[in-house]
Amino acid sequence: MKTNSNLEKVLENGRFAVTAEIGPPKSADPEIIRRKARMLKGYIDAFNVTDGQTAVVRMASWAGCLIGKEEGLDPIVQMTCRDRNRIALQMDVLGVAALGINNILCLTGDHVSMGNHPSAKPVYDIDSVQFIKIVRDMRDEKKFQCGEEMDVEPRLYIGAVANPFTGSPPELEILKLEKKVNAGADFIQTQCVYNLEKFEQWMNLVRRRKLHERVYILAGVTPLKSYRMARYMKENVPGIDIPDHILEELKNTPKEEVKEKGIEICVKTIERLKEIEGVHGVHIMAIGWEEVVPILVKRAGLLPRPTL
Ligand SMILES: Cc1cc2nc3c(=O)[nH]c(=O)nc-3n(C[C@H](O)[C@H](O)[C@H](O)COP(=O)(O)OP(=O)(O)OC[C@H]3O[C@@H](n4cnc5c(N)ncnc54)[C@H](O)[C@@H]3O)c2cc1C
Repeated sequence: MKTNSNLEKVLENGRFAVTAEIGPPKSADPEIIRRKARMLKGYIDAFNVTDGQTAVVRMASWAGCLIGKEEGLDPIVQMTCRDRNRIALQMDVLGVAALGINNILCLTGDHVSMGNHPSAKPVYDIDSVQFIKIVRDMRDEKKFQCGEEMDVEPRLYIGAVANPFTGSPPELEILKLEKKVNAGADFIQTQCVYNLEKFEQWMNLVRRRKLHERVYILAGVTPLKSYRMARYMKENVPGIDIPDHILEELKNTPKEEVKEKGIEICVKTIERLKEIEGVHGVHIMAIGWEEVVPILVKRAGLLPRPTL
């Protein structure tokens, strides 16, 4: 084992992994994270805390991770290159490892123009691929990016993201994924999957290049709460592909039953994902609806979670 990560143990033991995202608050209130973490305990193998997703200021990912860790969960810290140069990133990598966080998701990050401080200076000293390599070299070679050596290395299980639905040719997206794998990614969490057909095509390409044998792939899912949410995501969130039949299904469902319909669609999606060769787990991004995670995990037949 490369690290003490529970997620690594689950994946290395060939089990179908479950991770879930906890959205940090737009405040200094630790109870929001604590409450969500308690809700997820026993239903997931590790939890992510986003890092200023959509470039909106929220509680720092590492802080949310520590609060969730106090509740007995395995945290995945998310770190973007948008707000930090390589010096700050490496300092944070040492810091999170020293605090007992065992997993890191390395991202370029959403651009500042999307967020609530659009005139902020974007850093992008390096991108996600370079960042993955830096963390790998810190862990496996005990070396900083400048080549200097360190005494105690950060033992982090390294993740990256992939989006099978960007609209650019899937072959190009696969090349980008391969770069992340070559750089040292141990696991991948994807953008949320609604269009299973397209996702299967993407997985075909993944298998053709044998990437599923070199990296663990966790397919992202997000349950839809309402027709409005689905339409908003389809029309406004880049890289989200919600097929029209799902929109129709939600539109034709009575308002009081629509959340249940969203759960049903998500459970069916997870059941299909479980059957795809090379998919090693699911990553549930419930976006402010974390209480639904235990329901999804239970109904999709993913209990009990392994204790290794
Ligand atoms: C599971 C998941 C979790 C996510 N969590 C977060 C999060 O916590 N915080 C957050 O901000 N975003 C988050 N995102 C969004 C993610 O950052 C974007 O979707 C991104 O476009 C793809 O991932 P990446 O960051 O690894 O970028 P990459 O795959 O490295 O690159 C994506 C794009 O970033 C742009 N880019 C790269 N380098 C530069 C540069 N030097 N200057 C300007 N633009 C550049 C380019 O358009 C490039 O094509 C998440 C996405 C997923 C799927």
